[in-house]
Amino acid sequence: MASNSFRSQIHLGVIIILIIITLLTPITTYNTSPQPWNILSHNDFAGKLTTASSSIESAATDFGHVTKIFPSAVLNPSSVEDITDLVKLSYDSQPSFTLAARGHGHSHRGQASAKDGVVVNMRSMVNRDRGIKVSRTGLYADVDAAWLWIEVLNKTLELGLTPVSWTDYLYLTVGGTLSNAGISGQTFRYGPQITNVQEMDVITGKGEIATCSKYMNSDLFFAALGGLGQFGIITRARIKLEVAPKRAKWFRFLSHPPS
Ligand SMILES: Cc1cc2nc3c(=O)[nH]c(=O)nc-3n(C[C@H](O)[C@H](O)[C@H](O)COP(=O)(O)OP(=O)(O)OC[C@H]3O[C@@H](n4cnc5c(N)ncnc54)[C@H](O)[C@@H]3O)c2cc1C
Repeated sequence: MASNSFRSQIHLGVIIILIIITLLTPITTYNTSPQPWNILSHNDFAGKLTTASSSIESAATDFGHVTKIFPSAVLNPSSVEDITDLVKLSYDSQPSFTLAARGHGHSHRGQASAKDGVVVNMRSMVNRDRGIKVSRTGLYADVDAAWLWIEVLNKTLELGLTPVSWTDYLYLTVGGTLSNAGISGQTFRYGPQITNVQEMDVITGKGEIATCSKYMNSDLFFAALGGLGQFGIITRARIKLEVAPKRAKWFRFLSHPPS
């Protein structure tokens, strides 16, 4: 009888210890949602990856205000490496998460959005003191893709040079218009902007940086040009320049629609 009561006391003790251990152990739920949630704790992105509602809200929409596509986070990169790290992380994740480069957000239907993924705010990389190198002899400029065309024009004009082909509206990024076409009044003569690029640096889907041109990695070059960001993220483009004319004649023809 005595040994039975001793055994039940031990059982009771074990059960109490198990209950205490269970209560003290934190409840762990494994996040099976796509990775952006998990990368928030990633040290490499400290201070650069945000889920602030103001950032998410502004990345969810664009100039068109037609769509609202919410990302999980927004990356404000300060270097190309920040972007390559993020792309590699997505590539290595199971499942991978969606990424989209956003230039100046002047798309009309959410082309620069990443549903539940990460929007890369390219403009956060702009540094007015660097980001453009002009070759007078080669008549080209190596430009950060995050620059606006107005910024490119202002810099090249300081040297009496100008890009050959434009958009009519200049508050668009180099990467954004090269991912479309880039058309303007000069297009009939020089072709769209995508035919006036000599070379680019593109971050591939694996997070590698590839320099490409008509002669080097040409598949990537022609896919990224006009590729709406689906074939890589453009970080640098070599833009063809010419000597800026001192004067220009500008005609605007108005016509009545046929009645
Ligand atoms: C007021 C206004 C005037 C316009 N005028 C003209 C004009 O004169 N000529 C003309 O051709 N177009 C014009 N457009 C259209 C405009 O060129 C495109 O909408 C262009 O994509 C906008 O550039 P963005 O920098 O705002 O790019 P976003 O809208 O931010 O991005 C456009 C696309 O490019 C991708 N992208 C952005 N940056 C990169 C990058 N670095 N690498 C890879 N992909 C990238 C995005 O993911 C997205 O798919 C105009 C649009 C507006 C709203």
